[in-house]
Amino acid sequence: MTEEVAVERDYTAAARALVDARYPIALTGAGLSVESGIPPFRGPGGLWTKHGEPPMNGWELFLADPKRAWEKRLNPEGPMRELARRVEQAQPNPGHQALVELEAMGLMRCVITQNIDDLHRRAGQRELAEIHGNSRLVRCIECGAREPREAISLAVLPPRCARCGGIQKADTVSFGEPIPEDVMERCQREARAADFILVAGTSATVYPAAALPFEVLERRGALIEVNPHESELTPLATVVLRGPAGAVLPKLVAAVRGLRN
Ligand SMILES: [Zn+2]
Repeated sequence: MTEEVAVERDYTAAARALVDARYPIALTGAGLSVESGIPPFRGPGGLWTKHGEPPMNGWELFLADPKRAWEKRLNPEGPMRELARRVEQAQPNPGHQALVELEAMGLMRCVITQNIDDLHRRAGQRELAEIHGNSRLVRCIECGAREPREAISLAVLPPRCARCGGIQKADTVSFGEPIPEDVMERCQREARAADFILVAGTSATVYPAAALPFEVLERRGALIEVNPHESELTPLATVVLRGPAGAVLPKLVAAVRGLRN
């Protein structure tokens, strides 16, 4: 068998597994964002590589001095402002769009993402769980209410929740901060319901996201890996589609359409 035929067979197998799934979900990560021009945190061009590693106790520091944490976040020279600028400039790529198409076809019940850049939502994904938060939102640390960042005043720091008066922080989850309960519960509910998980642009090594593929595998669900590189999930995958998500996912959608016609 030529390599081309083998690859085509893989797409057909992945499309078949997706069409046959009762409750397909996806888990996405940094790889998808990098393809839209969002810098990664580590490695060449990484935010931390350029600005230095952030403190590993960001949550503790926030609680100790929220005003100072906000001032650091708003520093125009800091990594968070650079990330915010890059997020504003970024556009969803064909990988994001393919997931929206699958949702429209009734073949994607929820996208769980580790990305904080809002690109899935901007692409039009409706069922979305942002496990590490969303950089365009702020969240009240008391009642959990979220608001768009543009909607709040930063004249006095830290900003306060209009509903309960609690301190607001960026919705993005800091180092050491627990994943917000509503999101964590949603992710667990989705993973328990799923009999198919598409893992795209992530090697899924960071908990709690890393547990989700195993949750699906334990109940004999299918795991499709979309990644240009081998990962720890590769040996466990039902089918591996090698390549960047922006190239692979549109081809998967085409294979699904081929099966349905
Ligand atoms: Zn509140």
